[in-house]
Amino acid sequence: MDLIYEGKAKKLFTTENPSELLMKFKDDATAFNGEKKSTFAEKGRLNKTLSLHLYQLLEKEGVSTHFVRDDGPDTLIVKRVEIIPIEVVVRNIVAGSLKKRTGLPEGQRLRQPIIEFCYKSDELGDPMVNDEHIRELNLARGDELEKIKRSALKINRSLSAFFAKAGLTLVDFKLEYGRLFPDKHNIVLADEISPDTCRLWDSVTGNKLDKDRFRQDLGDLIEGYSEVLQRVENALAGR
Ligand code: UDP
Repeated sequence: MDLIYEGKAKKLFTTENPSELLMKFKDDATAFNGEKKSTFAEKGRLNKTLSLHLYQLLEKEGVSTHFVRDDGPDTLIVKRVEIIPIEVVVRNIVAGSLKKRTGLPEGQRLRQPIIEFCYKSDELGDPMVNDEHIRELNLARGDELEKIKRSALKINRSLSAFFAKAGLTLVDFKLEYGRLFPDKHNIVLADEISPDTCRLWDSVTGNKLDKDRFRQDLGDLIEGYSEVLQRVENALAGR
């Protein structure tokens, strides 16, 4: 297996099947564009397991994803895609950069979900872009962007409802999409869905159980992620 990509939280390796890759979830965490770094034993396994459950749930609800099969404690087999260099952020409640940008109070529910796009560029610090910037930069075609928006809102509806059953509020989250190899006509959900990429608050206490624990030094990260996994598994089991 050859390492073909190493990001901040994941590594991608080739497999014997040219249209599939092995995705390994690392224990590393970074924030603020890589300025803050740490390692948390078990984070890779927790994020892998959460992504696995959420991808299986979304596939059942008709969302096409890159997920193929489970592979090991911190690894999944995924379809090979060409990543569209756009971070798709969906928000239900004010937090993080939306609070900074608008002055709206953290915790305020939005009248309807908001979709934002960021251009994936470490050099530029992932700036927010709109549809017209995306067209000018040739990041995605107009029809692809429409598909992405529809898919992101559907995912938001599915995940918000599911997390509510698990006693969790889905505040906001980030998605990435990719064009399936080799013909690149179809786009599917790629990357991960985990507390690294979602803000999840306890529905009753408002306790933050996601990566903000690391960003804002709010408490033990693994304790938060383990709590999310346990509640997700209970909800899946109908408990
Ligand atoms: N997010 C992410 N990766 C990024 C930036 C944001 O997964 O590079 C997620 C983040 O965890 C949150 C949502 O996208 O769930 C919105 O993040 P925001 O724009 O508020 O930025 P942040 O406060 O994370 O800098």
